[in-house]
Amino acid sequence: MTAEKIEVVAPLRVSERRIHDFVKSKQDWIETAADKVLKSTQTIKKLSPEKYRDGVSVPFKGEHKKVQLEFTASTKVNVTFNQQFFTVELPADSIQKNNHQLIRFALIDWMKSRAVKEVKSIIEEYADKYNLYPRRIRIKTQKSRWGSCGIHNDINLNWLLMLTPPKVMEYVVIHELCHIQERNHSANFWLLVEKHCPDYKKHRLWLKQNGQSVMQGL
Ligand SMILES: [Zn+2]
Repeated sequence: MTAEKIEVVAPLRVSERRIHDFVKSKQDWIETAADKVLKSTQTIKKLSPEKYRDGVSVPFKGEHKKVQLEFTASTKVNVTFNQQFFTVELPADSIQKNNHQLIRFALIDWMKSRAVKEVKSIIEEYADKYNLYPRRIRIKTQKSRWGSCGIHNDINLNWLLMLTPPKVMEYVVIHELCHIQERNHSANFWLLVEKHCPDYKKHRLWLKQNGQSVMQGL
């Protein structure tokens, strides 16, 4: 059930009329249930700040890191990370303006290019080890999936994985690599994933519990 749709399961011999009557008689229950579903989707915890300004924290690799702003004479926006915090350098003339989105987009760009590097290094490590070679790797922005592997072994991965713990990101990359060998989610597929990533169940659970929050993005 979603907040907009209900599904009624009935035996074939039951007439449509009776199904409609049944749904009508359950109207109160349906409304209460729909309300609950709606509320649960509204209370997804957001990991990113409401407004991007000096001193806020952003999610990164399963933790939160502080963002420090610096205003420079340059006209460019630049992001650096020193393992402890992010520094976003902004043009001095943006100090008066509402620069919230400027900071946000700069961090998103930085994370996307970081995702490209990290995904490539994970794939380099595992491809040779397990003989699983993707044709192409692409980093995408997706609202509902972490990764995918096409029939020609093109692997897409969501840059939002940069917000998850490194081991979780590694699991998703391994998961997609394993699809080169096993196209479906059969028992054999999961055995292969387990062989290459023994703790995969833990990482999958992490995604189940925190995935919706991460999908909210920056
Ligand atoms: Zn899969």
